[in-house]
Amino acid sequence: MPASRLSHDDVTALSRAIYARIEVMKSDLRQGLHRTQDPAAMGLANHLEETDDAAVADLLLATEIAEIQRDAAELKMLQTARKRLQDGSYGDCTDCGTAIPFARLQAQPAASRCVPCQEAAEKLAVGGGATPPRSL
Ligand SMILES: [Zn+2]
Repeated sequence: MPASRLSHDDVTALSRAIYARIEVMKSDLRQGLHRTQDPAAMGLANHLEETDDAAVADLLLATEIAEIQRDAAELKMLQTARKRLQDGSYGDCTDCGTAIPFARLQAQPAASRCVPCQEAAEKLAVGGGATPPRSL
């Protein structure tokens, strides 16, 4: 195992941070949705309590409320990170496969790319306006 890979303790600490952040985002979203007073949005808030399905994050992203979209985007990243923790791919860059430095993951536990790949993806996203391609 190369030294740059995350230790078991590192993964435990990061996964705690991710799970805690998911709860924070869900609570923020719930409050934000209730504030809208929009029956459809409030329905989504109830949905949020009963399922962790990524489909809920997609529905939230489809709302036209900037605050909700921002939280939903983060929730979706966190859910993806949680899935990667479960399948063991967490900590590896989704684009180039190298280990993402622990310091970066500490600052951004949901990061799925190393810094160079993230910068490249952001450039692509700005240029094309589309979701950056993801390779396995
Ligand atoms: Zn990379």
